[in-house]
Amino acid sequence: MLINLISDTVTQPCDAMRQVMSQAQVGDDVFRQDPTINALEEKMATMFGKEAALFCPSGTMTNQIAIKVHTQPLDEMICDYTSHVYQYETGGYAFNSGISVNLLHGQYGKITAEMISKAIKPSYDWLPTSRLVVLENSTNKGGGNYYTLDEVQPIRQLCTDCGLSLHLDGARLFNVLVETQESTQEVGALFDSVSICLSKGLGAPVGSVLIGNQAFIDKARRFRKVMGGGMRQAGIIAAACHYALDNNIERLADDNRRARAIGDHLSTLDYVDSVNPVKTNIVIFTLKDMTAAEYVNKMKNQDVICSAFGEKQVRFVTHLDYTEDMEQRLMEVLGGVI
Ligand SMILES: *Cc1c(COP(=O)(O)O)cnc(C)c1O
Repeated sequence: MLINLISDTVTQPCDAMRQVMSQAQVGDDVFRQDPTINALEEKMATMFGKEAALFCPSGTMTNQIAIKVHTQPLDEMICDYTSHVYQYETGGYAFNSGISVNLLHGQYGKITAEMISKAIKPSYDWLPTSRLVVLENSTNKGGGNYYTLDEVQPIRQLCTDCGLSLHLDGARLFNVLVETQESTQEVGALFDSVSICLSKGLGAPVGSVLIGNQAFIDKARRFRKVMGGGMRQAGIIAAACHYALDNNIERLADDNRRARAIGDHLSTLDYVDSVNPVKTNIVIFTLKDMTAAEYVNKMKNQDVICSAFGEKQVRFVTHLDYTEDMEQRLMEVLGGVI
């Protein structure tokens, strides 16, 4: 039995999802003729109380398009140093948008209005223009921590006061909302744009959606085209995204609970130095003596796949293909690794 907890992107589409995909009505989405995609975009715009949405192949693309629309060359974006937009998008902010980045050292990937306020640059010819703030919710490299909307509110206010745009990288937003019971409408009201991944915990094979007002999405559509993301009968995959939204949101609470169980178990083990607070479906912990690479290798020999997230840090991500049997087995393996 292989237990693959390298990411929540590893899930296989279930039979019911494949069934929906095979039945999907499709058309050419570049001409806006794919009814399944049009319906998905409308559904997600409505969900977040926004005017429009755009279906894209990946969360990297939705983030990169958002950065592109919100900024001009010589601007800068402000974000935490662990952010996906900084760490894991190949430096795309510089490549695609010609902007620089103003990195903040938050806690578990979270930054505050006070930190941002101090980071906003005065306007001089020799400084980049602070233009955009990007928040990640939940935080990935931050270990699945999350912002409540009460915490976002002062950041929203600051951005409004200072004329900055506020983008949400909500790759795993629904893992947060099942914990906080906050609504997508409330989230939409606080951000200028929102990126959601359907291919993570929600279990679709492909797909992310960018959400915003109409003028924003009109520009985003042009950038999607120039980045090569204009797809044709992609309703086949959008159908899987519909299925994911209709069936797989509430169950994310199970993933979060099972991640907490892993965290609780790890914190009793001798080889573990510390476990980051487990808030959603990501567990990041620090080893005492072993290196992360050694640990990942030992686990691999026991058919458990996890990832090194720094020299002594290891990450597990729970997801819908992580079964109860696997959970039992994993607890044994964790205890047996020295
Ligand atoms: C996965 C992820 C993305 C997007 O990743 P893709 O693999 O390009 O879909 C963006 N932000 C965060 C925080 C992520 O975890």
